[in-house]
Amino acid sequence: GEKLIVAENLTIYYNNYKAVEDVTFKLDSGETLLLLGPNGAGKTTLLKTIAGLHKSYKGKLLVFGKPPTEVRDLISYVPQSYSLNERVPLKAIEVVAMGALYKRGLIHFNIPKPILKEAEEALEFVGLGDLKNKRFVELSGGQKQRVLLARALVSKPRLLLLDEPLSALDPSARVEVVSVLAKIKREMGLTMIITTHDPNPLTEIGDKIMLINKRLVAFGTPEEVLRDE
Ligand code: ADP
Ligand code: ADP
Repeated sequence: GEKLIVAENLTIYYNNYKAVEDVTFKLDSGETLLLLGPNGAGKTTLLKTIAGLHKSYKGKLLVFGKPPTEVRDLISYVPQSYSLNERVPLKAIEVVAMGALYKRGLIHFNIPKPILKEAEEALEFVGLGDLKNKRFVELSGGQKQRVLLARALVSKPRLLLLDEPLSALDPSARVEVVSVLAKIKREMGLTMIITTHDPNPLTEIGDKIMLINKRLVAFGTPEEVLRDE
């Protein structure tokens, strides 16, 4: 298939410190990559660099054939923790609509009707249409993560980057979120990279697994990589 990400001898820096070193891999369009590694292995750093949010690297990194900073519009990045710093607690639908507003360079609270409609459709896609007017802060952990997925989808990305989407969730909420991720893969065919320290709930949707510990430890299909663990 078409190579959506090409990384060759990629080394990522914080000043002189190498957080990721000499990593080479490719990802096809439509594939889901599970990015594994212990704490401090460089997972978030790699994800942010692919998102075009961290710019200090050497080596080759092409996303859609271009440097990541040139294709930020095609990428949605969902950080591990998401703090809403709002004086007025936002409704679920407003949180989702913000995703579309930021993308268009708009930041205001009179959300245009067409954007509200897109936000509503995204919430329906993640199974939360009925809760659109509920305050985000009042939702369960699994519901919050689904709202954040809707928020990431509303800007119609072609690459979805998720940092530890399951780590803060209890087992039943994990099932909820994994089923939405499976639906995104099945119905939208979106290319995804998902960081996790526990691949077990996600092996069903993972086409490829990458294990890093600063350097690349393993890369391949789940059968290839997890067999050798
Ligand atoms: P992981 O997501 O796998 O836990 P990170 O990408 O967060 O790993 O961190 C990789 C390494 O880079 C760690 O040693 C961490 O301390 C370091 N690091 C992360 N962010 C920064 C930063 N902003 N400045 C300096 N060092 C950082
Ligand atoms: P950016 O690529 O947008 O600068 P980074 O993830 O590199 O984002 O940096 C996040 C924050 O960490 C920034 O405020 C940056 O100044 C700081 N930072 C970067 N390198 C280091 C480092 N080696 N030690 C401590 N902080 C750092």
